[in-house]
Amino acid sequence: MCRLINYDPKKVQVYYLIYKDNTGDELARARELTEQLGFSFLTANAILMPVELLIHLVNGNRQAIPKDALDIISHLRQDPGVALDRLRSLHKGEQLLTCKLRDEQLTLDVNGDVYVCCSIYDSQWHKNIGNYLDFPLEIIQQAKLECAEICDQCIANRINYYFLNDDPELNKEPTQ
Ligand code: SF4
Repeated sequence: MCRLINYDPKKVQVYYLIYKDNTGDELARARELTEQLGFSFLTANAILMPVELLIHLVNGNRQAIPKDALDIISHLRQDPGVALDRLRSLHKGEQLLTCKLRDEQLTLDVNGDVYVCCSIYDSQWHKNIGNYLDFPLEIIQQAKLECAEICDQCIANRINYYFLNDDPELNKEPTQ
């Protein structure tokens, strides 16, 4: 039988995504239950993913966005188009070439295969770089750069900052 050694409930994190319609009592009850269980409670305003949809949005190509994604957008507390406008203005003039999600993190699937990042879903861009156990990390990171054509558009439009929640407005928790 398995036994949890040095089990620390505080290391279990409940990550609650906030939409327009699950604030107030629902949020308060989720927090209370989590704290009763001794777990950590984290919140973030839900955002739109993946990167392909955000690129359609910034290009004004709304007809390419599926109806269910438009429905999700209507439930977000921050309109993604408005949030991206704000991020572009906050980071105006910066010569960005890097992305923390690509350059400082690894996205692995259950087989240990590496992908450029967790924010790309379309198979055209969501490329299998190779297995984590088969290559040194430097080779993997270099291969990610070579497979990351979509990153240029993502970085130019500051979409990577949107994924990193690098926006004070986007981070605000509801007051009720
Ligand atoms: S630039 Fe965008 S698509 Fe590329 S790794 Fe970063 S978040 Fe993902």
